[in-house]
Amino acid sequence: MDWFREHSPQVAKVLIDGPKEMVCDYGIPETLTSQIKIGARVWVSLRDRKVSGTVLLIENQSEESTFNVKPIDALIDKSTVIPENLMQLGRWMADYYLAPMEQVMRALLPHVVRADKNQAKLQQQVRWQWGAIDKFTLEQKDAWEKLEKRSPKQYILVNLILQTDKPFLVTELLKLSGASRATLKGLETKGMISIEQVAIRRDPEAQVETIESAPKELNEQQLNAVTLIKQSIDESANARVQPILLQGVTGSGKTEVYLQSAAHVLAQGESTLILVPEIALTPQTVGRFKSRFLSILGNLEEVAVLHSGLSDGERFDEWHRIERGQARVVIGARSAIFAPIQNLGLIVVDEEHEGSYKQESSPRYQARDVAVMRGYMEQCPVVLGSATPSLESIANVQAGKYQIIELTKRIDGSYLPLIQLVDMRLEASKIKGEAMIAEPLRIAIDERLEKQEQIILFLNRRGFSKAVMCTSCGEKVNCAHCSISMTYYRTDDMLRCHCCGYQSLVPKICSECGERASVYHGFGTERVEEALRKIFPTARIARLDTNVTQRKHALRDTLDAFRTRKLDILLGTQMIAKGLDFPGVTLVGILNADVSLHMPDFRSSERTFQLLTQVAGRAGRGDLAGEVMIQTYMPHHPAIQYARHHDVHAFAAQELQARKMFKYPPYLHLALVHVSSLKQEHGQLLSEHIHKALEAKLPQGVWMGQPHIPLMSKIDNRYRYQIMIRTNKISQIQTWLSQTLSRFDTGQESRIVIDIDPYNLI
Ligand code: ADP
Ligand code: ZN
Repeated sequence: MDWFREHSPQVAKVLIDGPKEMVCDYGIPETLTSQIKIGARVWVSLRDRKVSGTVLLIENQSEESTFNVKPIDALIDKSTVIPENLMQLGRWMADYYLAPMEQVMRALLPHVVRADKNQAKLQQQVRWQWGAIDKFTLEQKDAWEKLEKRSPKQYILVNLILQTDKPFLVTELLKLSGASRATLKGLETKGMISIEQVAIRRDPEAQVETIESAPKELNEQQLNAVTLIKQSIDESANARVQPILLQGVTGSGKTEVYLQSAAHVLAQGESTLILVPEIALTPQTVGRFKSRFLSILGNLEEVAVLHSGLSDGERFDEWHRIERGQARVVIGARSAIFAPIQNLGLIVVDEEHEGSYKQESSPRYQARDVAVMRGYMEQCPVVLGSATPSLESIANVQAGKYQIIELTKRIDGSYLPLIQLVDMRLEASKIKGEAMIAEPLRIAIDERLEKQEQIILFLNRRGFSKAVMCTSCGEKVNCAHCSISMTYYRTDDMLRCHCCGYQSLVPKICSECGERASVYHGFGTERVEEALRKIFPTARIARLDTNVTQRKHALRDTLDAFRTRKLDILLGTQMIAKGLDFPGVTLVGILNADVSLHMPDFRSSERTFQLLTQVAGRAGRGDLAGEVMIQTYMPHHPAIQYARHHDVHAFAAQELQARKMFKYPPYLHLALVHVSSLKQEHGQLLSEHIHKALEAKLPQGVWMGQPHIPLMSKIDNRYRYQIMIRTNKISQIQTWLSQTLSRFDTGQESRIVIDIDPYNLI
């Protein structure tokens, strides 16, 4: 210990990996002083065990601490250091979302990068050592001649190596020449070549061909937008700038604005981050971005695309490429907000209203909001783009916190599509049942098929039927573990729970009344596909939903076929609502516009409005006029009426008024305390105890509801309870919540989860 006191004046606060939040002090050995930084990953000993952790802070050692700190044992990996800017962002997240720092760390550092292994893929590479032939020394000339006479195999090999400037991989070279490893080794012994280990990038996009696309000449509105964003980029060098909301109707060319703004940033040597919803990470969207960056940068070496489909190796390589500054353009879904980019010059959040930016497991962050915070911390402009901005962002514009730029016209001068409502109540009374495709829509489809134009049909439900129902007593087959009905799949004649994934056979008799009679209730994409094939037997039809796209390349192949007009009708869920751009589509049908309206959630109107507007935006993007048909049982609902008239501003105005009146975001913050338990009584009791404890210290101005059972009262065998809290400022409730809740020991059966700014209320 004396040694230690003399040699190291500093201690590191290390966050130990593991579910328990534990931070301990360790000394920094002299041999490591230059390498231990905030964010470094280290090995330390904890009660005689070797454990891994992350350095959170480095402090000067106080007198008392000198005697009981142990030194850090070793660095896990020199190259794995969470950059300082991300550590700062992480600390903000832990405070704001009341998330354990350890879980925040997991979000900051992908699992495979955290692991105690250098996962780089190493290969041997041959490098020529002697320079040009005409500059050989006498000695080298001599050796060269000898080689030619006495070792013909080596001579051939050398000539092959000299043919290109690029270093060969050993495996490639041996394959090409047919020479043996020993022959090559001989050259190394002679000093002509060296063989070195290099990391080979595993490129997730290696198979994809990209064609350059030159910048387009901007229209007036786009030019105005790009000018303002560039201005903001330039100003941000010296001052903090406000986030910008880019509100542009579907087809107004927002992507072109992002791309030209990004080009400005890259030209200044800075980096750019583009977030898109996971669902929009289709080959088409990614391809559009890559084409442009190829033309700006000359190659795609500096572009990293992050999504959930990457292998561990690919993810590892991309993280390190970004961290080393080799990739200056990052395109990715939610978690890409934590990409270790340095020198960030612009963050774009496309489709900023999308619910999928919210992470539904700890740390429960909202990537758009984290993006705004990251931009603030790193003094970098943030552009939030959408045709249907979230009410949060609109309110931020009204409060003067964000700037707004509007694109009100479609690029090609085409009009927004004409939207017609099909009143399904009339249809239902005509056919005495639930219709899938009403007559007006059927006629419209027929007309397009006749004219060889294309059709997109949207239905927000997978499977064949929503439920299997007993015709005798009306009972539906429910999941054994959750409080929802099971969805029927005809392809394999099975029932599946969309909540927990549980599968079962269709019961022969009703569990309630013992009768044998059952019917399919409601419809999903499978059933509609079947019906379409019957009604339009000659049409070429494809279905896209998550069941189909589990097959590799199914998404890319289907979209390609649709684009090249090998398909007439594309039927799909959510995944066809976003970002797709097919000029041949002149009709979009929305089969069940009401599904999302029935959710007991204050955002259900907003979600419905956004979805309808986005889906409708897929129509009429080419020279031909587009038409949209919305099938609904609630034709007078404001969300549907405003969508019909493309009136984003009026919808927002009315909805904001309602939110203000009923005290909902964006005028207040919500926090939800989720309690769940395997035992119903435990869950109920625990939620009541928690409520009591919170009530005893309720801060002024904070409102708290009674514990209640949400719509999904049981998920995966866990009984659920919620307590809703409303507050003007998150800072008012942070200490209160974390201190009160930390006193509860939930045991094995129960869980308490806090969700700040929740998206999912059911
Ligand atoms: P948004 O994202 O606003 O819905 P897009 O970015 O998809 O709109 O643009 C719609 C189409 O218009 C795309 O095919 C795009 O390539 C094209 N486009 C965008 N800007 C221009 C422009 N200035 N000139 C010509 N075509 C453009
Ligand atoms: Zn279930």
